[in-house]
Amino acid sequence: MSGLDRYRAAVEGAVRPLPAEPLARELAWGRYLAAPALARRASPPYTCSAMDGYAVRSEDVPGPVELPVERVVYAGDAPGDRLAPGRAVRIYTGAPLPEGADAVVREEAAESSPGGVRFRHPARRGEHVRRAGEDVAAGGEALPAGARLGPRQMALLAAVGAEEVEVVRTLRVALLCTGDELVRGLTPDSNGTALRGLLGELGAEVAREAVGDELEAVRGAVERALASSDALVTSGGVSVGARDLVPEALRLLSAEVRVHGVPMKPGKPFLFALCGEKPVFALPGSPSACLVAFEVFARPALLKMAGARLVARPSLSLPLAEPAQGRRGRARFLWAELTSDGRARPLGRDAAQVRGPALADLLVYVPEGSGDLAAGELVEAWLVGGG
Ligand code: AMP
Ligand code: MG
Repeated sequence: MSGLDRYRAAVEGAVRPLPAEPLARELAWGRYLAAPALARRASPPYTCSAMDGYAVRSEDVPGPVELPVERVVYAGDAPGDRLAPGRAVRIYTGAPLPEGADAVVREEAAESSPGGVRFRHPARRGEHVRRAGEDVAAGGEALPAGARLGPRQMALLAAVGAEEVEVVRTLRVALLCTGDELVRGLTPDSNGTALRGLLGELGAEVAREAVGDELEAVRGAVERALASSDALVTSGGVSVGARDLVPEALRLLSAEVRVHGVPMKPGKPFLFALCGEKPVFALPGSPSACLVAFEVFARPALLKMAGARLVARPSLSLPLAEPAQGRRGRARFLWAELTSDGRARPLGRDAAQVRGPALADLLVYVPEGSGDLAAGELVEAWLVGGG
């Protein structure tokens, strides 16, 4: 494990998923499953046609043949009597397959004839038939623990009749942005805006506040924030300057500081502490550094608390579109855009940037062992969502 990866593992290892609760499916949007969701019914619920066409016994259609058509079955109809040998049933997509039939011949491969219907080709057993439970069997696992219940997952739960689910309770995060320049209105609290949104994307409830650089005010704000939340994210005031008061405020609250300073750029001043079991992610104030430290440390740990199965951003190995300079010895992160030919183009490197992150599709992770990188070199690119 690289130096930085050890810090990442230490932070993620220090938090646990929140408790679970049972919830009606319709109230569980955006939550994470605490246990696998089981299928109460099969999907598809009954064996049905996958096409508009004719239900047949495949042995009756060994090649070109004409069969009488017995009746019509639409979606929503009962399948009716067992299909007699040597006959066909007109059938539509989603209609239940009559017993005895084992294949559907598509409309396009048939033509109506005076005696019924004429098929041009042999029918294959199982062709254009959706078997009951072929997607999910009744009683089987529909979704694994840790799955996020978004629209497609909710559709599956609806399809399998999972009316109640076991989900992790909603994560409550306090967000505290520090800095006299913020409370005096000199610098817009852009970190607060970004972090509010990023936390919201995780499904967290967020209580946001700003506080000036005064020790008692910071201590009080941290204490109050922690009292009503599961985790605290702070911005600014975490370096070693005289006005960097977050570490001192945490010390006054007897927090256990596990990490302060990490071998990466930007984001070096990052601090992680536990305050009576509750995690504190203290991010640097410089906007790019703040958002990098959030991605590297806070986001995975908070996702774990929220109950997510996958806590890492999806990542790709992509060639760099341009060379990128840097020195060995500490990890680097570069905001980058994804070019239309699948390369990563870095967007500038100043930690104070707000625009680079805003234009980025990717956050490129360059491990500590790499120095200058040439154009075309493969890098690990995290998909952070485009602007
Ligand atoms: P700090 O980490 O508190 O020393 O702040 C470093 C730099 O980031 C300073 O230039 C601050 O003005 C700026 N900064 C601090 N907090 C924020 C914030 N919430 N939004 C935007 N910029 C900030
Ligand atoms: Mg500050």
